[in-house]
Amino acid sequence: MPELSSLLPKSFERFTMATLSVSSVEVLTPRLRLVRLEGEALQRRSWVPGQEVKIRVGERDYRHYTPLSYRQEPGEMEIIFYLNQRGPGSRWVEQLRVGQPVPLAGPANGAPFIPLRLPALFFGDETALGLGLALQAAQSQAGAFHAVIEVCASEHADIMTLFPHLTIIPRLEAQPGSAHIRWLEQASLALDQLTFYLVGHTQSIQAIRQILTQRYHIERQRIKTKPYWADGKRGL
Ligand SMILES: Cc1cc2nc3c(=O)[nH]c(=O)nc-3n(C[C@H](O)[C@H](O)[C@H](O)COP(=O)(O)OP(=O)(O)OC[C@H]3O[C@@H](n4cnc5c(N)ncnc54)[C@H](O)[C@@H]3O)c2cc1C
Repeated sequence: MPELSSLLPKSFERFTMATLSVSSVEVLTPRLRLVRLEGEALQRRSWVPGQEVKIRVGERDYRHYTPLSYRQEPGEMEIIFYLNQRGPGSRWVEQLRVGQPVPLAGPANGAPFIPLRLPALFFGDETALGLGLALQAAQSQAGAFHAVIEVCASEHADIMTLFPHLTIIPRLEAQPGSAHIRWLEQASLALDQLTFYLVGHTQSIQAIRQILTQRYHIERQRIKTKPYWADGKRGL
């Protein structure tokens, strides 16, 4: 008797839940976990950098996350989780142990990162670390993709050491987006050929987009956005 999943078309299967298992949990910093998940369902699915997964983190709660890597054979993926310490997703990550079952749908979607327009400047926060690393690893053209990641000031030095190929900047306690805006002012880059990818905190994305269009006169079609979370909102 074939498994039900083997009778389903691939496109449908991507949206159905598979149960994976935690194979390792690495504490990168007090707020960051690198988690490896494994399961034979991943051998039948596929992933392109930029695609996301949906994980069941509670009885009725689902949250989106972005694989950092995916290997169809032997069927495993890695995700970097940020612990915001405010919601069920964060609490679920904190209690993860090796061998624990993980109900997951996907990988799926991937807009606006597929296809990625180069040269690209990518702005994000801790929640976008995995995405930034995955997109960077997929580029063969050196220097065509530059990721600038804003992180909590107390973890800045550790995260810089962990990810030397990303530009890691400390969060400023001013307005949302102010760390990236200050970085842009000081970087004095030629912006006219770049496509901007703004990922993560919705209010920061809005502030940065406004500066890019009004101060730097960047056309809207060269600014791609993907909100990952918003102040006071549960699960985007
Ligand atoms: C497509 C997609 C891919 C994503 N990929 C990743 C990923 O790879 N890794 C990852 O860590 N996250 C990722 N996220 C973000 C993650 O899904 C959200 O941060 C989510 O809100 C966490 O759920 P929660 O239950 O912990 O908090 P929620 O219940 O959603 O929110 C509770 C409270 O916490 C606040 N909050 C949520 N996130 C943060 C934050 N980062 N910092 C401060 N406050 C916050 C909310 O404003 C709210 O007030 C992704 C989101 C999307 C949409």
